[in-house]
Amino acid sequence: MAVIQTSTGLQGAESRRWHFDIYAILEGPQELYFGHETQVNVNMVETVRIDTGQLDEDGKPIVVEKCYLSPTKRRGVERRALIWAPVADGRLLGDRLGCGIPHTCTQQTCPICRVFGGLITSDVEVGEGVPGGPKRKAMTFIGRLVHGGGVAVQAIEPSEKQRAMHPSVLHKEPGVDPTPTPFKRQYHEPALLYPVSNHAMSVSEGEFGAAAYAFLESLARMGAGNPKGMRVYEAPLLGRAQPLLVFDRYLVPLGKRPIVSPATVETAVAVAGFIEAAVQVGGEVSEKPVVRRQEGDVPVFTRWIGDHALAKLQEYALEFAKVYLV
Ligand SMILES: [Zn+2]
Repeated sequence: MAVIQTSTGLQGAESRRWHFDIYAILEGPQELYFGHETQVNVNMVETVRIDTGQLDEDGKPIVVEKCYLSPTKRRGVERRALIWAPVADGRLLGDRLGCGIPHTCTQQTCPICRVFGGLITSDVEVGEGVPGGPKRKAMTFIGRLVHGGGVAVQAIEPSEKQRAMHPSVLHKEPGVDPTPTPFKRQYHEPALLYPVSNHAMSVSEGEFGAAAYAFLESLARMGAGNPKGMRVYEAPLLGRAQPLLVFDRYLVPLGKRPIVSPATVETAVAVAGFIEAAVQVGGEVSEKPVVRRQEGDVPVFTRWIGDHALAKLQEYALEFAKVYLV
């Protein structure tokens, strides 16, 4: 008779596991490039086409093209933020763990793989001195951190600019190589808003530290090439300007999810919708920056809003750093 396997394969954690959600509206403070494909020597950015749900004068659906910060790109930047994190002995975290991209170590002890997942497609040998060697068995490790959102609010098409890769010589005679190499590149216009969300399923607080560190640390590195970087957009929230950021830790999803429809094209509508959902827990509107629901001694749902959400994420990131980097 066949023996079936019903367990997930995941080892138990040192403490209770929770679900964690991050919701944010990000803003590009300058133009940004997130590569999609190259066409006739033009580096294109990734865009999506959105049906706005409205009809034009002829009764045809109005479809707009929007810039896209795809969740897979954001995930890649976050994972690299962890791999390239500096550790005390002068190495980077990925080197200390023997974990990189695409060669993930896929170990349950790895703070990166146990949250982001890993894949070893067939039995492999690793180089001398690499942790986790000399052989690694084929293995799949499903990530418990997923990324969503990323469709820009404003329907502003990317702009195309001429750039040149200049050689390092400061002065040269005409006709002497090397010469600047011109190329064209598309950019997202500055001030585009990108509603995004990260969801971690059934991770311990210790495990979530890596996700918090990666989310915060990746903000300054978002984009391909230069320039880079995003910030959490700020708007009046609970009476003062605060980052549009919501952080949930829960067993039961009691909060209204602040997710902006990709069909929204007006920033004021997007911001108002985000805030309206941010302050709703269990069908009630709260004016508090931290909202808790208990079942006995167990906080079954806790939401941190704005600056409190940022501070709480920083707290988790610091705990991660204390264990792995300091
Ligand atoms: Zn790993």
